[in-house]
Amino acid sequence: MRLRNVRGSREAIAESEFTVNKFKEYAGRWKELFGNDHPIRIEIGMGKGKFITELAKNNPEINYIGIEKYSSVLIRAVEKRKELQIDNLVFIRMDAVELEDAFGAGEVDRIYLNFSDPWPKDRHAKRRLTSAQFFSRYDKILKSDGIVEFKTDNVSLFDFSLEEINSTKFKVESYTYDLYGDKNSSLYVGNISTEYEEKFVEKGNKICKLIACRA
Ligand code: SAM
Repeated sequence: MRLRNVRGSREAIAESEFTVNKFKEYAGRWKELFGNDHPIRIEIGMGKGKFITELAKNNPEINYIGIEKYSSVLIRAVEKRKELQIDNLVFIRMDAVELEDAFGAGEVDRIYLNFSDPWPKDRHAKRRLTSAQFFSRYDKILKSDGIVEFKTDNVSLFDFSLEEINSTKFKVESYTYDLYGDKNSSLYVGNISTEYEEKFVEKGNKICKLIACRA
C-alpha cells in the first residue's frame, strides 16, 4: 500500500487520549484500562478505523482495540474518535508482530483481520496476517473459544489462508468466496463494511470471508 506521510501524525498520536502508547504495561490488565470485565476484541491493520469504530458504537458492552502500524493512517481514526461519546474504543500504533507483548494469555475474545496486505511474494509469506506464524501469536492471546474473522477480495490470499489455517491449531469453521452473494447467510448478517471493502464492492469485486476457531 502506498502511504502519504501526514506531518505531525506521530506526535498527535503520542499525545492522544485515545491511543495507548505504553501498551505493553497493559498486557494481561486491559480490563483496568477499560474499568470493566467486558470482552476485548481487536482489529489488526484497522486502517482509518471505520469498521472498529462502528462496532464500538453498536456494542457498548464490548471493548475494542484497534491496531495499526502507521501513524499516517491511524491519525484518521483518532480524529474521528474525538467526535464520539463512547468509552469502549482505544487504539495502539504497533506492528502486529508485537502482539504477545501487548496482550496476556487468552485475554482477547475475537480478532478481526480486514483486507490485510497480501504480501504476494513467497519469501514474504510469513508477514501475511493469516500465516501460521501469526496464528501461533493469535493462539497465545486468544481465549479458548475465541475466533478470528478474516475478509478480503484477494482470492490468492484467501486460498492461502484456508490452507494455512488448517496447518495450525485452528480450523476454518465457515467460509465464503462471495459474502454479498447470500445476504441471509450467518457470515453476512450484521456485516459492517470497511473502507477497502466499500471500494472493492463498488468495483464489483467479490468479497471472501472466513471464520476460524480452535481445531
Ligand atoms: N482494514 C482496513 C480496511 O479494510 O479498510 C485497512 C486495510 S489496508 C489494505 C491494511 C492495513 O493494515 C494498512 O493500514 C496497514 O498499515 C496495516 N497493517 C499491515 N500490516 C500490519 C501489521 N503487521 N501490524 C499492524 N498493521 C498492519
